[in-house]
Amino acid sequence: MERTSLQPSRFTQYIRTYSNQRLEWLAIDSFKDALHSLSAGLPPNEEYIVALLSAGTEQMPELLSAADRMRRREVGEAVHLRAIIEFSNFCRKNCLYCGLRRDNRSLPRYRLTEQQILDAAGEAAVLGFRTVVLQSGEDPYYRPADIARVVEKIKSSCDLAVTLSLGEHSRQTYKIWREAGADRYLLKQETADERLFKYLKPDTSLSKRVQCLCWLKELGYQTGSGNMVGLPGQSLHTLAQDIMLMQELDVDMAGIGPFLPHPATPLKDAAPGGLELTLKTLALTRICLPQAHLPATTALCTLTTDGRRMALSGGANVIMPNLTPPAVRSKYLIYPQKADISEKPAVALAEITALLAEMGRPLASGPGHATKTNRKSFFTDDKSDK
Ligand code: SF4
Repeated sequence: MERTSLQPSRFTQYIRTYSNQRLEWLAIDSFKDALHSLSAGLPPNEEYIVALLSAGTEQMPELLSAADRMRRREVGEAVHLRAIIEFSNFCRKNCLYCGLRRDNRSLPRYRLTEQQILDAAGEAAVLGFRTVVLQSGEDPYYRPADIARVVEKIKSSCDLAVTLSLGEHSRQTYKIWREAGADRYLLKQETADERLFKYLKPDTSLSKRVQCLCWLKELGYQTGSGNMVGLPGQSLHTLAQDIMLMQELDVDMAGIGPFLPHPATPLKDAAPGGLELTLKTLALTRICLPQAHLPATTALCTLTTDGRRMALSGGANVIMPNLTPPAVRSKYLIYPQKADISEKPAVALAEITALLAEMGRPLASGPGHATKTNRKSFFTDDKSDK
């Protein structure tokens, strides 16, 4: 038979097959090396994290099992519940990915009154929650003293830890809220890539974000960060840097969720983040930050109906049911089709209890404070109030 240039010789085919196998072996070797090194507690490095983020579907079970073992060993079997109360969807900022951005004129806005927030917190306490998360856009309508008063009232009337998730503020404002009794603060970095951060969040900068996180740590808050997986322009190296930044900041909590494009934002046509990559990032966050509290994020549960179980099997130890009053809940849409929009708290609790029973995981009875035994002090030189 006449051979054309498109028909490689058997020798060439052999070389190609051998080279492909060799590359596969090298990939498997670097996966095992990286997993072994990070699981043994060696300092995270970008190369290892990227090798693990590149893991193929067939390597996922090994990675998720390693994260699950780390979770069991470092923070135990219990799953902590945090009740979220989203009390205002007004925001002064214009983040490109967020449905609450100030330029989204199609969103009906709402604010809860002080009494409505207190009622929602009271309901959480009655249902047995030990933590409430007060969350909002950056809404200047509430003065620092207003939030402080709400925190004080919750702390004096209910046995609840209070987490705030209210965005970037001055050090003085964070201090007022801490003195009022707030225990924790969530401020996701979203991405550790400075240029991508500036593109996504044009009103602020990564350095300002990190400064806020440092202030929060100085003031004694248990501090949480987190990122989005699958952002346009993000690479595996960016995700590795995300994990390393959270490790460097020594955060107590980290929320890892997929990017989900909102139709009323400039990123409406971007592709959403993928399930596998989100699970891998969550698993690696557990391996690199062994004692952090990691939620099964609502965004992950929005991506797939079995997201909660998957996350709890791959490093997560926290669930955050929504206790925002039903009348306004559908208006707090950072991303669309949010999984918890119509969940009734009692029904959600029953579903969670059934899932945990099936998984052999108990519900935590305490407030679920930070578990770190060797918390670093993270004092910055610059203590000015910007
Ligand atoms: S991400 Fe936060 S700060 Fe940005 S627009 Fe949305 S609510 Fe506002």
